[in-house]
Amino acid sequence: MSDSQFNSTQLAIIEKFGFTSETLFSSIASIPSTIDGLVALLEVTNALYRAGFPVIDDQKYDAIRQSLIELEPSHPFVNTVEPELVVDSKTVALPQKMLSTDKAYSFEEIERWISRLKKAATEIGVEESEIEIRVTPKLDGYAAYDDGTRLYTRGDGVRGQDITRAFERGLQVANNAGRGLGPGEIVIKKSYFDEVLSEHFENSRNIQAAIIAEKKVDKNVKKAIDDGACVFYPFSAIEHWTGHFTEIQSDFDTIVERIWNAVDFDIDGVILETTQEAIKSHMGATRHHHKWQIAFKVNDETADVEVVDVIPQTSRTGRVSPVAELVPTKLSGATISRVTVHHYNMVKSNGVGPGAIVQLVRSGLVIPKIEKVIKAAEPKLPENCPSCDSHLIWEADHLICPNKSDCPAQTENTLIHFFKTLGNNDGFGPKVIEKLSQNGIRHIHEIYQIEVSEFIGIGFGEKTSQNLFDQLNASKEIEIEDWRFLSAFGVSRLGGGNCEKLLQHHDLPALFEVSVEQMVQIDGFAQVSAEAIVEGLANIKEEFFKVYGLGFTLASTTKLSEQIEGDSPIAGKTVVFTGTMVQGSRGDMEKQAKALGAKVAKSVTGKTDYLVTGEKVGETKITAALAKGVEVISEQDYLLMIG
Ligand SMILES: [Zn+2]
Repeated sequence: MSDSQFNSTQLAIIEKFGFTSETLFSSIASIPSTIDGLVALLEVTNALYRAGFPVIDDQKYDAIRQSLIELEPSHPFVNTVEPELVVDSKTVALPQKMLSTDKAYSFEEIERWISRLKKAATEIGVEESEIEIRVTPKLDGYAAYDDGTRLYTRGDGVRGQDITRAFERGLQVANNAGRGLGPGEIVIKKSYFDEVLSEHFENSRNIQAAIIAEKKVDKNVKKAIDDGACVFYPFSAIEHWTGHFTEIQSDFDTIVERIWNAVDFDIDGVILETTQEAIKSHMGATRHHHKWQIAFKVNDETADVEVVDVIPQTSRTGRVSPVAELVPTKLSGATISRVTVHHYNMVKSNGVGPGAIVQLVRSGLVIPKIEKVIKAAEPKLPENCPSCDSHLIWEADHLICPNKSDCPAQTENTLIHFFKTLGNNDGFGPKVIEKLSQNGIRHIHEIYQIEVSEFIGIGFGEKTSQNLFDQLNASKEIEIEDWRFLSAFGVSRLGGGNCEKLLQHHDLPALFEVSVEQMVQIDGFAQVSAEAIVEGLANIKEEFFKVYGLGFTLASTTKLSEQIEGDSPIAGKTVVFTGTMVQGSRGDMEKQAKALGAKVAKSVTGKTDYLVTGEKVGETKITAALAKGVEVISEQDYLLMIG
């Protein structure tokens, strides 16, 4: 390691803590034996991490912290929340303390934590049968707190920095959960990072730093915010498993695996906590963590493995993925014999081919991935599509099969995706679809024309054939949402969420006539997405109407315009809510305002019509709004106005 590997910000941090790049790396390599040495190392690595330049992984950091605990359990550093690096900016008191989480690396430690819950329950007379545990993904993002008006960094857990500008830059709250939900994390969608941002940024932490930075936000980051790929994720709105503690004891691995893979964001563990307020307040907290909560983490395991072959696989979209076949290797308890390589550019530029040695990493139960190529070999690149033999073309980092209409792999995967997304039938999995494809079935509408006798002719048993036929009818009769139906066609960028947003403005058949200009008018659709969607819809139009014409039972998405009660005084007005609301949560009030036809904004601009103020609103905010010509009304007056 040398200075050239650090930029000036990193070097400034390293020097601030009395290190040079050489002494830092020698200190990491041989963990110091003195208290001062350990604290200095923890401080500098923590500061680098928070500034977006991690130099060691969490496991190593925890090991260094553990060495300090062993030498001096009462050291202030181990008993407070690791401080965030404050770069020339004032701190403000957080509305609520934000603590760290205690960590466990084994099931035995989780068992001991459950014993402590049981003991606490007994002490306050709560029945064991009532002890419920909530398990959520531990997001590996940038911790922040949203009080509904301002967004704060966690800081030292007591004081943080005001980073409300992140919301002003358009940062959305995940799952449309609304503002004011307290603690959460700023995170970036993993798939989006891989596909769009990885060429501009080394890791997602650099982007988190850019979202909240005081300086002008990078254009790629701004686009990621606009595309909804960077969000603030409040913990209370996150995917979870909740159940009795005995289920955790009997089914720990399954529950952890499900939650570990529940979100498309970087996570570094799962969090377990009790849901009973009485137990929470009885157990309380140390200065570092809540005792009623614990994070389960898994040490990364790595192995250097030889590549036997690299096999191309064509996906639904035509993108060809390289799959490396490996000399079977044990990793975190499972035998790994194949792994998907990031993309073909990695195969090409890093030399992935037969005989190459790659380093595999597996974090707990997550799918293993190639961390780096240890020894390169002659890269193995396909010329033609493994399915249809079309000549492959390069598109950025990917090899693509350009044969959109007649590539068996693409059509099969499209058909599988259709039935899987509809979700109101079964029977049409990969095996059945493959058989149909081999018999010349290429399109969804063709499947719906197959009679029982024809299924038998293709080689299905009598009972199966009748069942497949019945399932097709069922899929038309059982009601499904129109957005789900549309997303089943697998158009790029038209997942369920985007389909629903579009269908709130346009009817399903009419959506095919919407222009790019009209689409960008809809909240959440940037120019690039709109162009891709309009093109994607044009590509499926013919097949779509053939299938649509078969008579599915579709439930229409409610139009935003229909939600408007025409005579509401706030219909068409732009409303901003601020402060703590008395009548209900701010999220509910915002939803109600939207239902009445208002546009709800997060910050006051010249276009704002009403600023509705709850309790604890700063004078400056009101003065600023008045200066912009905005009408400021109290929550009570607002409620009177809307009746
Ligand atoms: Zn092909």
